[in-house]
Amino acid sequence: MVQMNLRFTEIPELEGTTDAYAGLNWSYSRREALEHCTRRYFFQYYASALPSGDFKTKVNFLRGVKNRYLRTGEIMHLMIATHFKKLKIGRNLSEDWLMKWAKDLLAEDRKYSLHIRNGGASAHQQFPPTILDEVLNGSRDDEVLLDHAEEQMLGAIHNFFRTPAFAEFRSLGASPEARIECKLSLAGFPVPVTGKIDLAAVSGAHATIVDWKIGGSSDGGTESLQLATYGLWATTEFRTDEKNVRIVKAHLTTKEVVQFNVDLNAFVNARVRILQDLERMVILHRYGKSGVIDAFTPNPQQGVCRLCPFRGVPRREGGRLCLKPI
Ligand code: SF4
Repeated sequence: MVQMNLRFTEIPELEGTTDAYAGLNWSYSRREALEHCTRRYFFQYYASALPSGDFKTKVNFLRGVKNRYLRTGEIMHLMIATHFKKLKIGRNLSEDWLMKWAKDLLAEDRKYSLHIRNGGASAHQQFPPTILDEVLNGSRDDEVLLDHAEEQMLGAIHNFFRTPAFAEFRSLGASPEARIECKLSLAGFPVPVTGKIDLAAVSGAHATIVDWKIGGSSDGGTESLQLATYGLWATTEFRTDEKNVRIVKAHLTTKEVVQFNVDLNAFVNARVRILQDLERMVILHRYGKSGVIDAFTPNPQQGVCRLCPFRGVPRREGGRLCLKPI
């Protein structure tokens, strides 16, 4: 077994004959984790390789902690997906009912997070509430921040039901052949390339893919990679060409619909970028599987660390923090 104090420059050759890609997969969220901070990527994907002990326990605990943006986005997606799934079996859940459910879920999260912060025991149930980073860390203004996040989440759900710009997507999602939260898988890569699509539906010769967003449009370029993977999947899945595929991001808070230009260039670029990601991932994979945390350099950036649940992780030597507290 590789010891925790092994430096990554000293790692022995790891069974060079085995498949270097074994156990690796690519997903947009995984590549985003790697892009933001390699140390965080380690915590998120290789914590199981750490030796048993307090450090591992702490990392595993923090893997389940979510910040307000992540959690409210997750609840918003759950409400919309449940709405469509229930429609398929003849139940029409009202906007009010879903808004109340969303509110209750967040209220439970807040209560549970406070309980954990005060030293309470973890809940042993199949779907325990989520521990919210803002409450756990007793952020200044945590109540205000969470109230604001809740307001935005409820506004997004309301807009989903009421905004005329989304009427077409509500109707597509309600169609019997619509696919809700369907799994995506792309062939032609050395590892599984996977993802999840919020809504995919075919109407006539055209396929439409909708990605619900709680925030406003701020495509920094990487989201286009995610959307291009949806397009690649749709052309295969619906046996059509790129001209018949439409991919949109529906920004529920700002009520904007942003269309992604689907073309062959975007598809080629997406394939190249995934392969480039994999080149980097596979190098780290061998260290990650062996728990060699030093190969995963912390990449402290104010914006990233501020929302990272691992910012309080003590380093294994000397009890220092992953970073100075932010
Ligand atoms: S706190 Fe910052 S440096 Fe540490 S794991 Fe998180 S993002 Fe990386």
